[in-house]
Amino acid sequence: MSIAYLNGHWSKPEDAKISVFDRGFMFGDGVYEVMPVYHGHIFTLDQHIARLKRSMAEVRIQSPLDASAWKVLLEEAVSRSGEQNALIYLQVTRGVAPRSHAFPDHHESALVVTARRLRFLQGDGVDVITIPDIRWKRCDIKSISLLPNVLGKQQAKDSGASEAWMVDSGGQVTEGTLSNAWIVTERGELITRDVSHAILNGITRQAVLRLATGAEIAFSERPFTVNEAKAAREAFITGTTVLVTPVVRIDGEPVGNGRTGEFTAKLLAFYARHMDNQGKET
Ligand code: PMP
Repeated sequence: MSIAYLNGHWSKPEDAKISVFDRGFMFGDGVYEVMPVYHGHIFTLDQHIARLKRSMAEVRIQSPLDASAWKVLLEEAVSRSGEQNALIYLQVTRGVAPRSHAFPDHHESALVVTARRLRFLQGDGVDVITIPDIRWKRCDIKSISLLPNVLGKQQAKDSGASEAWMVDSGGQVTEGTLSNAWIVTERGELITRDVSHAILNGITRQAVLRLATGAEIAFSERPFTVNEAKAAREAFITGTTVLVTPVVRIDGEPVGNGRTGEFTAKLLAFYARHMDNQGKET
């Protein structure tokens, strides 16, 4: 079942109401996290909480909860939902204040958590298109201001693709609208863009890098161009909602043989096993 938590109260999501003066609603003045629940266990919870704290600190939004209270609240969300496989959405905004761009003198952050059932599916290859990256210069912050991502994803959908890879002014891929971008070169090198203000350091990205290290798969964290991606042997995307998803076409051109590659299939299997193991540990 779907449930919501809003500033201390639990309800059905449709009964949770915010003020028209919430700064998240007015300005997109807030940050968020999306976490997977797998076999009743919040996967990579500590990493998501750490990234949330970093995002709040970077934009100077006060944490609405003490450090130890996050886990308790999120685990309560899972148990109230009664779901074994679910998606938790968490948003913190700078709260309610008369509309004025500068911060209010004192703010009480608004906190929303929702949990809903989700079946995690892995496997089928997807198409991506490439589009200019028109976002701000702090994409490392998980801000709720997602208009360029929304427009990009819609452009992908309109062209019959699943995801859009955003490309910087130097012709290099930054990331997807809701995922990190990866390629495997002809020489068998696994590549994903290095962490900077240009991308979100995906929790799935970090997990896949750890798995690659454990499996002694060589990788390189560096930018790659669209041309390099089109000449790659394999490509894939990672993210909380897409897990590890093969990319089989870029701008309509097949990647490698146009089917899920060997490396990608291996990482996908490692990742699925990793999720299963984490679920069983609790
Ligand atoms: N980049 C962007 C722009 C995203 O929105 C997401 C999804 N949160 C990701 C990358 C992947 O991050 P994660 O693996 O933490 O879901």
